[in-house]
Amino acid sequence: MNKPKIVVEYSDKKNSSGKVIDGTIHLNISSRLSPLEKEKHIAKLTENLTGKISWAQRYQFGNSEGIVKTDEELFRLANAINKAYYNFTFQNIEFHKQNSTWGTCSLKTKQIFISHRLIGAPMELLWYVVAHELCHLGEPSHNQRFWSIVSRACPNYDECRKRLKAFGLQ
Ligand SMILES: [Zn+2]
Repeated sequence: MNKPKIVVEYSDKKNSSGKVIDGTIHLNISSRLSPLEKEKHIAKLTENLTGKISWAQRYQFGNSEGIVKTDEELFRLANAINKAYYNFTFQNIEFHKQNSTWGTCSLKTKQIFISHRLIGAPMELLWYVVAHELCHLGEPSHNQRFWSIVSRACPNYDECRKRLKAFGLQ
């Protein structure tokens, strides 16, 4: 699982708290603590929230399994990845019947198509393919720069590519 984005705020109160909004962890840490204690609170809350939130809750999928089945859910996922890691401009993203590729991205129309074979796929794989296609908006070629951009949202992209090959055989 990819690490969620974390926003930390400090306020003058006794307790620290945290919640998840749109896939981002928002922490409210007590400013009365020592620097070391603050770090401890941040680490503990982050660990708890990361463990607790499922994909479904993070991205408001219409199902509890945390898998993407519809174009709307796909759009929410792409939007969340894009907002957290990139900020590229894309028009739309939807599932499309395509057997030869996992995804395509048109630089002209800024439209992304994801293969229908990934409907209901393991989230990590879909996450990787969506991030991959988003990154083409910033770098058209599969060069070193491209992979370094991909790794921002998907540090384990190498493993995902291998798993995707295996997934394609099913
Ligand atoms: Zn590509």
